[in-house]
Amino acid sequence: MVRIARRRVSDLFGLAERESLLGHPEFADRYVALARKIGMRYNVRLLGEYRELYCRSCSTFWVEGRTVRTRLRSGHRVRTCLKCGHQRRTRSALMAGRRRSLPESGPREVRRDEGALSVPTTEEADLVDEETEDE
Ligand SMILES: [Zn+2]
Repeated sequence: MVRIARRRVSDLFGLAERESLLGHPEFADRYVALARKIGMRYNVRLLGEYRELYCRSCSTFWVEGRTVRTRLRSGHRVRTCLKCGHQRRTRSALMAGRRRSLPESGPREVRRDEGALSVPTTEEADLVDEETEDE
């Protein structure tokens, strides 16, 4: 039964994608809702690839730029449902890679400490020109 449910869920997401492409977003949303219902009834966790495709709050089938907006914000990918405003945060793969290379920014921090007296704060930066820094 679980196998059939899984099959049905994947069929429904296929249909949702097709309807969405055909310009029938309301059908796509309906298929997503059905797929989630089946997933819940038979205790089938939806696959990761499907979980990224819809809003968890209102079951809207997400189409980038149409029903969902994706932004990168401080190490997270924030996807905002354009229908209900629900936000879904996931750890961004891009930022995770950047985080691994964090030690590279170490020397810059050290240099800032060494020149603490001559380095202006961001507010003062506009007032201090290069000549005063050389003194
Ligand atoms: Zn939503």
